[in-house]
Amino acid sequence: MSGMTNSVSLLPGGNAAASASASSEPLTLGVMGGGQLGRMFVHAAQTMGYFTAVLDPDAQSPAGRVSHRHIQTDYTDASGLQQLAACSAAITTEFENVPAPSLRELAKSRPVSPGADAVAIAQDRAAEKAHFVKCAVPCAPYAVIDSAAQLEAAVSQNLLPGILKTARMGYDGKGQVRVKDAAALRTAWQDLKQVPCVLEKMLPLALECSVIVARGRDAQMVNFPVQRNLHREGILAVTEVYEGHLPAELQEQAVAAARSIAEGVNYVGVLCVEFFVLQDGSIVVNEMAPRPHNSGHYTLDACDQSQFDLQVRTLAGLPLTQPRQHSAAIMLNLLGDIWFDANSAMRLPDWSAVLALPGTHLHLYGKTQARRARKMGHLNVTGASVAEVREVALQAANILGIEAF
Ligand code: ATP
Ligand code: MG
Repeated sequence: MSGMTNSVSLLPGGNAAASASASSEPLTLGVMGGGQLGRMFVHAAQTMGYFTAVLDPDAQSPAGRVSHRHIQTDYTDASGLQQLAACSAAITTEFENVPAPSLRELAKSRPVSPGADAVAIAQDRAAEKAHFVKCAVPCAPYAVIDSAAQLEAAVSQNLLPGILKTARMGYDGKGQVRVKDAAALRTAWQDLKQVPCVLEKMLPLALECSVIVARGRDAQMVNFPVQRNLHREGILAVTEVYEGHLPAELQEQAVAAARSIAEGVNYVGVLCVEFFVLQDGSIVVNEMAPRPHNSGHYTLDACDQSQFDLQVRTLAGLPLTQPRQHSAAIMLNLLGDIWFDANSAMRLPDWSAVLALPGTHLHLYGKTQARRARKMGHLNVTGASVAEVREVALQAANILGIEAF
């Protein structure tokens, strides 16, 4: 939680009440991290009349390039943090691994959401799973592995075949090894340099889904519809959200679980909770992300408010209203792979052909270099009917060289 108990709204367009003049400077909202999520937060904040400040060491960072201010220091640099606090009325974060002590430092003088405690839980798979257990939301059977003795104990816990995941710093399937037996588990832990890990039982997945909630400082909470997600090689590839994409009962369970997970940490901000739906129809939580999420990018074009709009509102202490999805939606992630042809030669994807299709919305993050598996942008497809969006999304995928789904 933020160290500040500021319940005052940071109104867009400057705080006229604090100044007799009608020309008061717009308030600045700050963000730790300059990736694509920060960029879309900056766009949403600017649309509402705020100035923005981004702290990211990279001169070319997607958010830094579109922000009013870009503070180019390390995330733990005292002077950088001091500059960010000095110019920002409130501060948020856009990446999961932002150092929690830096958020605590910023929270001494400014409202910070999400708070360092919630972020610290999401950064550590062991703490995260303990939180799910505390909230009575089922997760995959697991064991924490901090020592060789714990590893040997885990062997007899019926967790194999399983996935060994580093407790910290994993994303997009990195820091994970699938292990089929005890010998593979021992080797995998050596290969991961014996860092603290979590061993999870491999579950028979039917599908994956996620829920994004936004919770204000006043504990008011709203949520987006449940997203159905397709991952390829550990990376989100496709998100689909439309009538009938998931059984209603399952959606209710996922929303209730996401809400209790947010409440359980007194969360302020936008939170995404990822779930597995098992082949027997039951649902278990996978992990949470203390920020807007890739699976929520469809909200930019298919809902009356996007997940970034809600991030701005929660940060500024503005009212939250339940967002409404007005169009069926499919999001295709645009990975760097599609900038290469079959012979590994660079090419530009055929945007003209894609944009000639009805209901297509192209979002590129302004990254200068395409690399395989790098998230370069996404394509939202919206339409009045499920059949329409599916047809267009499949055509777009075909043009771009993305495997059908
Ligand atoms: P993210 O980019 O979402 O943070 P991550 O690196 O944290 O990814 P996870 O979400 O833990 O990784 O796992 C990535 C993918 O691997 C999942 O989306 C799922 O497809 C698969 N997976 C992970 N854990 C399990 C499990 N216990 N059983 C079956 N499949 C799993
Ligand atoms: Mg994940």
